[in-house]
Amino acid sequence: MRDYIAVSACLVGANTKFNGKNNYNPKIKDLIKGKTVLLICPELFGGLETPRDVSEEKEDGRIYSINGEDVTDFFYNGAYKTLEFLKNHNCYDVVLKNGSPSCGEYTYDGIFAKRKIKRLGVTARLLKDKGFNLTYID
Ligand code: SF4
Repeated sequence: MRDYIAVSACLVGANTKFNGKNNYNPKIKDLIKGKTVLLICPELFGGLETPRDVSEEKEDGRIYSINGEDVTDFFYNGAYKTLEFLKNHNCYDVVLKNGSPSCGEYTYDGIFAKRKIKRLGVTARLLKDKGFNLTYID
């Protein structure tokens, strides 16, 4: 059986980030060494496109873009599609991009004030609840 690890696609240099760029982090090399990598991007899995407006989760759990569009359904759709994809590959080790409203361990506060709070992103929350082994890097 393959030794899979899933990684937020933007961490390996894929331009999946909201602004059309990536979050390449050289630390990823050591984390994925010797494993077969599955790339995930919950926001694209959920039907959003790149580039897209930056979004944050509000206190009530709804997610809005900076222009006031309610994008909650896209985020949850992406989270459940990610879960299904990982389960289908029997992959329970995941490296996620911190700070993202989908993937983060810390996420922005919901009022676009550039302030991070300790609150998991939507996909991170779902995967944690389901017992996945999660690692976060910036
Ligand atoms: S949703 Fe996750 S994988 Fe996709 S761009 Fe944002 S941080 Fe990266």
